[in-house]
Amino acid sequence: MAQLIDGKAVAARVRAEVKAEVDRLRAEKGLVPGLAVVRVGEDPASKTYVSGKKKAAEEVGFLSWEHHRDSTVSQDELLALVRRLNEDPAVHGVLVQLPLPRHIDPDVIISAVRPEKDVDGFHPLNAGNLVLGRPATRACTPLGVMRLLEEIGCEPAGKRAVVVGRSNIVGKPMALMLLQRNATVTLCHSKSDLPSEVSRADILVVAAGVRELVKGAWIKPGAVVIDVGMNRKEEDGKLVGDVEFQAAAERASFITPVPGGVGPMTIAMLIRNTLEAAVRGLGPSSA
Ligand code: NAD
Repeated sequence: MAQLIDGKAVAARVRAEVKAEVDRLRAEKGLVPGLAVVRVGEDPASKTYVSGKKKAAEEVGFLSWEHHRDSTVSQDELLALVRRLNEDPAVHGVLVQLPLPRHIDPDVIISAVRPEKDVDGFHPLNAGNLVLGRPATRACTPLGVMRLLEEIGCEPAGKRAVVVGRSNIVGKPMALMLLQRNATVTLCHSKSDLPSEVSRADILVVAAGVRELVKGAWIKPGAVVIDVGMNRKEEDGKLVGDVEFQAAAERASFITPVPGGVGPMTIAMLIRNTLEAAVRGLGPSSA
């Protein structure tokens, strides 16, 4: 039976590390990191995510602001808001909660955030630097997965890592981060032969958004299984992952639960990225 990876506990530890650093920065440099979150419209999930991010930011001692705009806001108005936040010296991180209404092009908005303040790691410059193996702000969810692997002592070098899902916010950066740590990486999508690819994985990360897509019987015995999926069950409204949990847990060595696995790590890494953006703003030698 697999050991559970307690993302909630690891995330709490990450936030405590950040808080200690914030206390030190405030005392020694008079610096208080600031996170501005932009939310558009009334998407209930976005509302929940944004309030969770704001709460986490406040708990570690950041300043935080939520800028809410009606779903009828124009792209130009939203761009003007992002530019204002780019120029505000109290704001070290700018996050635009996705999805945006259909009349707004998310690529235009994400590209407008100053790369130094792009704490989501979605700006093309940060995404490109990740591809090139250069320092970059990294996307929070895959960064959280890397931290979970570290916590359980899983060294990716030389292992076969299989990532299911190739989104720009999870799957692709996940594959690149594992590659950078010298795993042999396969990136799967809806045209892949999943049972065969998954069965070879020493490290399996699933981010497809399809309830229980990956069957327990496909898992290689002893594999580390990280389930990023968050699907709301119609029957009872509970969250369920992209992996058939019980059956997978019988074969895996470690597995993340849903909820309480990857989910809490995403916010913790956003908080870490914001702290790092604030410290970078101090200049190279003064942190
Ligand atoms: P997305 O819809 O943008 O991408 C899904 C990817 O999965 C696509 O690349 C697609 O090719 C692939 N896919 C879809 N169906 C497939 C199939 N049948 N076989 C193989 N591949 C398939 O989704 P996303 O934003 O990457 O999110 C994925 C999941 O992770 C969702 O459930 C989302 O809610 C969850 N998520 C969780 C967190 C977190 O903090 N835990 C963060 C982001 C996303």
